[in-house]
Amino acid sequence: MKVLVVNAGSSSLKYQLFDTDNKSVLAKGNCERIGIEGSRIIHKMDGREDYVKETPLSDHSEAMKLVVSALLDKNVGCLESVDEIEAIGHRVVHGGPHFAKSMLANDEVMEILEKCTAYAPLHTPAHIMGIKGCKSVMPDKPQVLVFDTAFHQTMEKEVYMYGISYDMYEKYGVRRYGAHGTSHRYVSAEAIKLLGVPAEGTKIITCHIGNGSSITAVKDGKCFDTSMGFTPLDGIMMGTRCGAIDPAIVPFIMEKENMNAKEIDSYMNKKCGFAGISGVGSDSRDLEKAIDEGNERAKLAYDMLCYQIKKFIGSYSAAMGGVDAIVFTAGIGEHSTYIREHSLAGLEYLGVKLDKERNTFKHSSEPVVLSADDSKVKVYMIPTNEELVIAEDTEKIVKSL
Ligand code: ADP
Repeated sequence: MKVLVVNAGSSSLKYQLFDTDNKSVLAKGNCERIGIEGSRIIHKMDGREDYVKETPLSDHSEAMKLVVSALLDKNVGCLESVDEIEAIGHRVVHGGPHFAKSMLANDEVMEILEKCTAYAPLHTPAHIMGIKGCKSVMPDKPQVLVFDTAFHQTMEKEVYMYGISYDMYEKYGVRRYGAHGTSHRYVSAEAIKLLGVPAEGTKIITCHIGNGSSITAVKDGKCFDTSMGFTPLDGIMMGTRCGAIDPAIVPFIMEKENMNAKEIDSYMNKKCGFAGISGVGSDSRDLEKAIDEGNERAKLAYDMLCYQIKKFIGSYSAAMGGVDAIVFTAGIGEHSTYIREHSLAGLEYLGVKLDKERNTFKHSSEPVVLSADDSKVKVYMIPTNEELVIAEDTEKIVKSL
């Protein structure tokens, strides 16, 4: 089945056309600067030069029209007719407490999605615009919503509640929701395949370490706990985000630096993490270069992250009563030998034995076993593929209609 996977942001619309029969990507691209001057599409197909066209795109409907025309183009496209696209799958960042699985978009679901704006005020309106944009261009295609938070809906209440007064949960839904659920779901399922055992009884810790990062404890194939919280600021330190800090630091800095709520939120999201600690930047490649050149703050930033990952692995092992496999994924998890090695150093007591030689690879589009053959706990690098999950969920739902 040909499924168009869409990731709509406020001023961008990323897409991938999947053939789910062989899990291949036929074409992909991005419409940038929607609604602002200089909007353009960058369309990519394997073996062809990138197609870039600058043209005004006033909204997501215009962007979708351009995507469809690129897909149908004789020179750069891969479709004869738009009818070949059988369904559209959307990445949705937040489903709040409402969505525990992927859903077919209908009036009722769209109404509930509107309510999720409270949990992701920047992302949800953009997703809604993307869904409406697709509907205006391809009115008859079924559209499926795949939520980043859905995988985490299996957490027990004692796990997802914060120790603040209960009325905040009742009035505003303040609780842990998690993030990157589609990625954690994909790599944990792949890890279970590699372990070659049924999901029931497995204990896996998945480390999604990218620009945004989160760690998830997956028990019996289901999310047991996860490091991101009410917002994607919680948990471990990230490229520009601070991760979990003493909550009293927030009013302290606000007072000292004369910041309001918006300003402190922006500070914690954009000026902290790797960038704030190192002063070098948020990109791990720049940090690794700086570390090689002897930059101590870059090394501090890296060592802080490794320490935090190690602490999560320890606490999740304790919470699940053990661990069978640890998975690294996303930009840094898939590429950084240093982060993987230093996060796992000292975990031998848990039964983790890294094979340092296996851990030195630079890039692999296939999973790599990083643990020694006699390691009790398996360690894997598994490239994430959220788009494939979205395409496959979409296919499954549409086939069941
Ligand atoms: P996002 O959270 O935006 O999806 P990614 O998962 O793409 O982020 O991760 C971005 C991070 O991964 C950056 O810090 C970047 O340096 C690192 N990264 C991405 N690709 C590579 C690569 N090929 N080699 C080394 N690091 C990489």
